[in-house]
Amino acid sequence: MSEQLNPFKMAQKQLDEAAAFLGLDRATHELLRWPKREIHVTFPVRMDDGSVRVFHGFRVQYNDARGPAKGGIRFHPAETIDTVRALAAWMTWKTAVMDLPLGGAKGGVIVDPRELSRTELERLSRAYIRAVGEAMFGIHRDVPAPDVYTNPQVMAWMLDEYIALAGYIDFGMITGKPLPLGGSVGRIDATARGGLYTLREAAKVLGLELKGATTAIQGYGNAGSYAHKLGQELLGLKVVAVSDSKGGIYNPEGLDPDAVLKHKRETGSVVNFPGARNITNAELLTLDVDVLIPAALEGQITEANAGDIKAKVVVELANGPTTPEADRILFERGVYVIPDFLCNAGGVTVSYFEMVQNAYNYYWDAETVYRRLDRKMTQAFHTVHETAKEYNVHPRMAAYLVAVQRVAEAMRLRGWV
Ligand code: NAD
Repeated sequence: MSEQLNPFKMAQKQLDEAAAFLGLDRATHELLRWPKREIHVTFPVRMDDGSVRVFHGFRVQYNDARGPAKGGIRFHPAETIDTVRALAAWMTWKTAVMDLPLGGAKGGVIVDPRELSRTELERLSRAYIRAVGEAMFGIHRDVPAPDVYTNPQVMAWMLDEYIALAGYIDFGMITGKPLPLGGSVGRIDATARGGLYTLREAAKVLGLELKGATTAIQGYGNAGSYAHKLGQELLGLKVVAVSDSKGGIYNPEGLDPDAVLKHKRETGSVVNFPGARNITNAELLTLDVDVLIPAALEGQITEANAGDIKAKVVVELANGPTTPEADRILFERGVYVIPDFLCNAGGVTVSYFEMVQNAYNYYWDAETVYRRLDRKMTQAFHTVHETAKEYNVHPRMAAYLVAVQRVAEAMRLRGWV
């Protein structure tokens, strides 16, 4: 992997820029450039046919100055330690910008789970917890969650294995659990909902009317499909284009979220939706709309197309959809970008609420979750927005400044630096 594409090098570079801006001392800067602790594991899993396959995995606890480390576990064939390190660093900034009393972590196993049967997947999930060791996890140490190709069922198996090893029940050792095992209501659509709350606040400061605002959404998975449905319900957005990995659809009159989701479930894609025109993902990004919501992959808005983006606001539900060069171009052109680790922090915020409910062993209703999520997202948005105005930097740099300062202060108070 080239240095430019290495995600951890990119994460370090972003931190370096923020550190220079803040004038961080050498020791604080150096400590923040590296994971505090990481473990590499190799473990066997018995396959259904009796053979044994050997897997490699990681858990990175990047920084826990502000509280227990928090971050998902990914099962992915292209997983690397540097991807996991970068994601763990970004989790550190995400929990800090949201002012959650948590640090940052991430885990991963190099595996294509689509090749495994359900029983093999269960044995792999349990083996990962045994290999990393129950001593690494716990509500006061490190709390995993679902990520790419892991889900509430995988969390349930991991929780069960942890309980067997630890010898006591601690539902808060993992989040994104099924509801009967201490999951939180509102977790499923929290990322989209949280992002829409930040869009609502951005519209207020920009003087943008959201009712009827034309919107394009790239990606139609958890984040994108809920952004469509809730965007219409909560804000009155008029979603005119959506896409998935097979391509996109466009109807200037607007697209009905339930009908599009039904079509995707039946055919495997949003493409060929009746009454809409098929478009490419590249076309979707540069449509003449008010709001653009990247909710698929990283690296979508680049130097090559940033000059053609017509949206007034970019709502980054995806992680890393905009390259640093594109950030500068959008900022100069006056396009307002709500940066990923602020915009998509609704998921980890409700995960934090899940930990709180587990610790109390008392559960909130949906209205309570939504109200508290709204408050956290609104506060974080305005803190970042004010910082961007104060220093005349783009919102992503402002989010870094807020987050890095908070982590650095916790490290100072604890006497680390
Ligand atoms: P998902 O797997 O549910 O959906 C991903 C969607 O992207 C699918 O519809 C897929 O078809 C589409 N896609 C894949 N390749 C594409 C391409 N080349 N062009 C257009 N669309 C493409 O994933 P998700 O959970 O919705 O996550 C989407 C993004 O949001 C990721 O960047 C993820 O890191 C980020 N995110 C998600 C959450 C969450 O809670 N789900 C939280 C924070 C960040």
